[in-house]
Amino acid sequence: MTTIRRVSQNQPFGDLKPTFRRHQAEIEAAVARVLASGWYVLGPEVERLEADLAAYAGRAHAVAVANGTDAIELALRANGIGRGDEVVTVGHTAVATVAAIEATGAKPVLVDIEEDHYTMLPAALDAAIGPRTAAVVPVHIYGQAADMDAIGASAARHRLLVVEDCAQALGARLAGRRAGAFGDAATLSFYPTKTLGAFGDAGAVLTDDAAVAARLKRLRSYGRSDRYVHAERGINSRMDEIQGAILRVLLGHLDEANRERQALAGRYRAGLRSMPAPAVREGAEHVYHLFVVRAVDRDRFRAGLQEEGVSTLVHYPVPVHLQPAYADLGLPAGSLPVTERVAAEVVSLPLYPGLEPAAVDRVAAAVEAS
Ligand SMILES: *Cc1c(COP(=O)(O)O)cnc(C)c1O
Repeated sequence: MTTIRRVSQNQPFGDLKPTFRRHQAEIEAAVARVLASGWYVLGPEVERLEADLAAYAGRAHAVAVANGTDAIELALRANGIGRGDEVVTVGHTAVATVAAIEATGAKPVLVDIEEDHYTMLPAALDAAIGPRTAAVVPVHIYGQAADMDAIGASAARHRLLVVEDCAQALGARLAGRRAGAFGDAATLSFYPTKTLGAFGDAGAVLTDDAAVAARLKRLRSYGRSDRYVHAERGINSRMDEIQGAILRVLLGHLDEANRERQALAGRYRAGLRSMPAPAVREGAEHVYHLFVVRAVDRDRFRAGLQEEGVSTLVHYPVPVHLQPAYADLGLPAGSLPVTERVAAEVVSLPLYPGLEPAAVDRVAAAVEAS
């Protein structure tokens, strides 16, 4: 017999089943309604979701698309960004942000982040702005908004388009406003693990500009402006009715799910005495898409937790500019020092709606003992 106290059960990093079980009757009714309707792509469910999303985020329009990557590409294209333009974003993000910028034909320019909040460093944005800079894509990483005050001020000074990558932060607030309400446009991903997750892939773009919203609807349907007329070249980025119907159900429960994330994060804060919890920006409300801590000897730290049955993940161990696919961006190791240090140390602990508070206590105790 071992004398080491193990957590009573293996603790997975994430689990989407509790969300399904809680809302099972509503979700099954929504799916059954779509199946019986005979209309499966871009129909009444998606239209209602678009209205609900716009109202939730405090924007005039939401346009549903197939995923969060397309949302960024199309938000930029609908605002005229393309070949010859430079778009500033961060290296500390999902590769999708950079892939989407390149899909427009524009050149991504990656800058460093704030050490405490992991979001775009406004001074680095200022330093990166040149004659070809046309847009900036701040990323609200982990569930907390970037410094939109400073970023918005730089963008206004240089007449840059602002597209918020809000894939990880739907529901978060900054200075009382929702993340996604700051830029010319904001993009959402409904990948299943995000704060609002579909049961498949889906995404959306938020904007207050009716002409941009109309162009987005064209771009998501191969540029079609009328039944047989294609006014410009677009892509296929349609949302399924089943996803639209499920997302409407879950949007109705999003604030409650985010409050639960915040309560679990608070419990981690109380339990983690020797390890700093995530820093929250002044005036910000964090929704903890991820609960991220730092460990200098990360491999050992993660292996120790795994021995106690606790699974962790890393978001993201290799920044975009150091990925083999992006070697030609011309940013060698050392170019984004804060990003690179953060990438070497961050660890995401389990946190999801339905995670038992007692499980948070067990994980925190395992962290303290490590
Ligand atoms: C998830 C994510 C995306 C991409 O969304 P998909 O729906 O997976 O295409 C883009 N940016 C960030 C920051 C993300 O977390």
